[in-house]
Amino acid sequence: MKTRTSFLSIIFFLFCSVAAPAQKSSLTYTVKMDNPEWHFFHVQLSCKGIRKDFIDFKMPVWTPGYYQKLDYAKNVAALKATDETGKELKWEKTADNTWRVFSNNSNRVNLAYEVKTVRSFVATPYVDDNRAYILPAGVFLYIDKMLDHPVQLIIVPDAKWKRVATGLDSIAGKKFTYTAPDFDILYDSPLLVGDLEELPSFKIRGITHRFIGYKLGDFDREQFILDLKKIVEASVNIIGHIPYKHYTFIAIGSGPGGIEHLNNTTFGFNGANFNKRENYIRTLHFLAHEYFHHYNVKRIRPIELGPFDYDKGSRTKMLWISEGLSVYYEYIVVKRAGITTDAELLNAFRGNIVAFENKPGKLYQTLEQASYETWSDGPFGRTGDEVNKTISYYDKGPAVGLLFDFKIRQATSNKKSLDDVMRFLYKEYYQKKKRGFTETELKSAFENVAGSSLAEEFEYVTTTKVLNYPKYFNYAGLNIDTSIQVLPGPYAGFTVREREDSVFIAAVDYESPAWNAGLRRGQQVLEIDWQKATGKLCNTILSNMEIGKMIKMKIALPGKKSEYKNIFPVRKKERTFNIKTIENPNTPQKQILESWLKG
Ligand SMILES: [Zn+2]
Repeated sequence: MKTRTSFLSIIFFLFCSVAAPAQKSSLTYTVKMDNPEWHFFHVQLSCKGIRKDFIDFKMPVWTPGYYQKLDYAKNVAALKATDETGKELKWEKTADNTWRVFSNNSNRVNLAYEVKTVRSFVATPYVDDNRAYILPAGVFLYIDKMLDHPVQLIIVPDAKWKRVATGLDSIAGKKFTYTAPDFDILYDSPLLVGDLEELPSFKIRGITHRFIGYKLGDFDREQFILDLKKIVEASVNIIGHIPYKHYTFIAIGSGPGGIEHLNNTTFGFNGANFNKRENYIRTLHFLAHEYFHHYNVKRIRPIELGPFDYDKGSRTKMLWISEGLSVYYEYIVVKRAGITTDAELLNAFRGNIVAFENKPGKLYQTLEQASYETWSDGPFGRTGDEVNKTISYYDKGPAVGLLFDFKIRQATSNKKSLDDVMRFLYKEYYQKKKRGFTETELKSAFENVAGSSLAEEFEYVTTTKVLNYPKYFNYAGLNIDTSIQVLPGPYAGFTVREREDSVFIAAVDYESPAWNAGLRRGQQVLEIDWQKATGKLCNTILSNMEIGKMIKMKIALPGKKSEYKNIFPVRKKERTFNIKTIENPNTPQKQILESWLKG
């Protein structure tokens, strides 16, 4: 995100062009990975022309796109600083992520350090015998207040590896040598090194898109690239502009998660499970999500998400736009690409609605709060007992996006849609004003497109008001089943697990008979129906339970000895949220549905 206007470099440029005396400063990193099985990166940083009494070198505490503090600094070891004569320079830690090197006005400072890698994950650097994943925010120290300085990067792959995949520009004629105009771009451009496979590239509007990865698995590569091309095309058709010169999909091996970047994305990938259609569609949705992010969050973004605060993290109340609407568009894009059916699209939305509606967090936490609290709660809400008080913007976000889209289409006689809001935000804030938008600006963008107040709809963002799905779905001639169904068979609402001869409550459904009796996840079960609890006994009793027939449980409680709980199984009540087209839609309903499906 090139938003850090380089005021200093303008001054520097003026100064140079008039007087031209000073030697230009430069920063060059070299990364080696000898003995990759030991899981270390060896980093050298050569700083030239930065004459100061001391230099503060810092490691980011997070990587943009993954809104959690990851404490990369703790993996830095064996740091050594020398001047141009090779003399060792003193340094001290002044914060957990800051190394102060007393450089005594040296023209050249060389830094060498190791980065220990512990976990193969999309948001952490990792190297082993098979490949190296350089997650820049966890590998490269920056110089305090010099984030806008250009960087050169030399990768020295282990001898057995021949390829490097990255979104960075390479320097012609120099092998594995790359440049970044500033640290925002460097931190936005992971590198994958190894025995990589590149699938056939494709062009959209004259611009090359590549797919490179490690251990991709066995699948129909030709069909996959055809589908990926359609997905990119459908995304570009929504915004109408491609802002990068090249784009690279980088598959880092099997595992969860993906992170979006300006001209690339890195993600876990396993083509071996594509033989099941639902796995294939899930992967295409996921790739559409990460790709659409290059618009929504990297360029169409909340004002707080740039310039990034690498020291503290950047909090915003608008992740429901950046993440929630990226889920919304992952479904829309794959549908408009002609890959999924109408039923698959509606079922995808149904999945998020069920996930949101069946958790009690909806009564306590708003979309705005979930966005803001993600740094402490995690992106899917808090785990453990507190999970009952939080929501996921990945679930409520797309549901609210759908209500907004149908409302805008209805209010404008289907002349405008959520796509117009996204296009407006892109043009007005990314292209024209070159910044993010505030909450007030976001709201007026929505309302200007709709041509009317959306105060009622914004309450779904700022309050825990119950979502009125039937009203909005009806605008598109869709019916959603919100009636309560009574399921056959008895239901208690809890499960157990056994660990080292003890039995614990594994999960409790909110407001189930078990919940209402006071059972909670993690509690130890001492007895069930007056007998010593074992996992086997509990499961036998649960599978033979009867409606209204009490299950007696003795639970160990902290501070107290134990307590008896009485659970009375009932019939389970559930809402399916099945979505179907209505039988005789009128013309406006037909038009809204058709244009929503086709774009
Ligand atoms: Zn995302």
